[in-house]
Amino acid sequence: MAQKRDYYEVLEVGREAAEGEIKKAYRKLAIKHHPDRNPDDPSAAEKFREATEAYEVLKDPQKRVQYDQLGHAAFEQPSGHAGGFGGMGGMDMNDALASFLRNFGGFGDIFGGGSGGGGAAGRGQGRDLQVKVAITLREAAEGVHKKVKLRKQVTCKECGGSGGAHGSGASNCPECRGSGRRRQVVRTLLGQMVTEVACNRCGGRGSVVTDPCGACRGTGTVRGEETVEVRIPAGVARGNYMDMAGHGDAGERGGHPGDLRVVFDVHEDEVFERRGDDLLIDVPVSPVDLMLGVKVEVPTLDGRVALKVPAGTQTHKVFRLRGKGMPRLHRSDRGDQLVRILAWTPDKLTADEKSRLESLRAGLSSRVPAPGRGPID
Ligand SMILES: [Zn+2]
Ligand SMILES: [Zn+2]
Repeated sequence: MAQKRDYYEVLEVGREAAEGEIKKAYRKLAIKHHPDRNPDDPSAAEKFREATEAYEVLKDPQKRVQYDQLGHAAFEQPSGHAGGFGGMGGMDMNDALASFLRNFGGFGDIFGGGSGGGGAAGRGQGRDLQVKVAITLREAAEGVHKKVKLRKQVTCKECGGSGGAHGSGASNCPECRGSGRRRQVVRTLLGQMVTEVACNRCGGRGSVVTDPCGACRGTGTVRGEETVEVRIPAGVARGNYMDMAGHGDAGERGGHPGDLRVVFDVHEDEVFERRGDDLLIDVPVSPVDLMLGVKVEVPTLDGRVALKVPAGTQTHKVFRLRGKGMPRLHRSDRGDQLVRILAWTPDKLTADEKSRLESLRAGLSSRVPAPGRGPID
């Protein structure tokens, strides 16, 4: 199989291209090479397919970082089975056409015509699934592997997924003679356009089961479970997700499996408050320490560090420890740790402390600003 080309190269954009730029580049290429406009040119169809596959990845910020980090390997399946798209063969033509329709509503806005409903649906493709995985802040900081058990449709063992009893398998659909597709003529401003839609009789599979398997009632899939290992990269935040191609429901009768979306939930931490990639921590000190200055020990993700609080620091002052925050997702740098110093007043004083502070009271009080907005800022 030919070496897959780099997605940025395919779309003729730089690696730093903004989302809008990528969309524009893809749209231009997709319209130029769309099979409906180049019916006799298979190389155009391939360019269309390739550009669509590239766009599906680069338009999705999550997939894009995965691709930036791992290249095409990010979407390859360990089993070597092409699922959804991303197996060795990549996205197929039907998926590419469906994707184009999803992204741009077909040629509707360009030619004013309708477009045929080709695509993945109807070929027995398994459903996409979503699962939530909760991790601690520290796990999010370091990255972690989690095993996740999924209840899902799996391939029926009785019939090996064929749907036919006793190895009978399926026979060609009489309606479409096994092609799974039906031609449909659509009138557009460019003239007549022939498109293909899924066959009604077989749902686009091209085959029908005459003697259905009892275990799966001819669908080729049954309820079961799968344990997937999710490699969670360092720096994820609540609501970030990761797509795992081919780990959704098994496809009916050999159809493509759906994809799995793993959505991350990151628990609140007892010590650190997360603010994007920064971590905030409160450090209480006595008012005398604020007046005279003090060195404090501050917990960070990397252990304790010493912080010098200078004499005359006001309460609520925030110090920044650069690079001590959360790792930034798929980057090598980190956010900062914010250290908020709070005046903490002891609630019990000895008689001796009291009398010594009393002797300082008048002098110190005379230097406190008048009430008003923001004297401390
Ligand atoms: Zn079965
Ligand atoms: Zn059919």
